[in-house]
Amino acid sequence: MDNNISSEILNWQSESNLNWNALVDYIYNKRIVIIDSKLKSGFGMATYYGIHLNLDYFKFVNGEIRYFLICHEIGHYVSLIEQGLDYHLNMLSSSNLNDVYNHIVNEEKRADDFALNLYNILNNISFEDIHNNINDEYLNKNGYMETAKYIFGRINNNEQNYKNIINEFIII
Ligand SMILES: [Zn+2]
Repeated sequence: MDNNISSEILNWQSESNLNWNALVDYIYNKRIVIIDSKLKSGFGMATYYGIHLNLDYFKFVNGEIRYFLICHEIGHYVSLIEQGLDYHLNMLSSSNLNDVYNHIVNEEKRADDFALNLYNILNNISFEDIHNNINDEYLNKNGYMETAKYIFGRINNNEQNYKNIINEFIII
């Protein structure tokens, strides 16, 4: 992780009592690549190669949500690494749109479960109640079918196709 990004994250310490040091240490220890990016939409995007965070957007949400969103992207990244790129490319290359959609929804659920657990471990408090009450828009719960349709038929188990789609979501 770039020093600029870790110092920006650590600056948020003053806005909430969460353990930002523990999160930054976690990211360093796991050697997770974090890239400050301007994305076409959303707060972040995890890929097999690292996590893009749209840090400009983070000022619009409070510390708890920021913390959770980063944990959520880490959850996606861990799943990508653990299950491997081939597995994910294969799932996203299905000839059945509903299978692509279900894979995306399963990965979102997995990332949320991972994030709830990591948030709890690093802060010794639960995010569960906030998570249950949160506006779905912040957690990007809608639009997964649109994402599935966008990806459908375009990856064909080819890594370069996957990279091309990732790049379509990144402005800078
Ligand atoms: Zn997600």
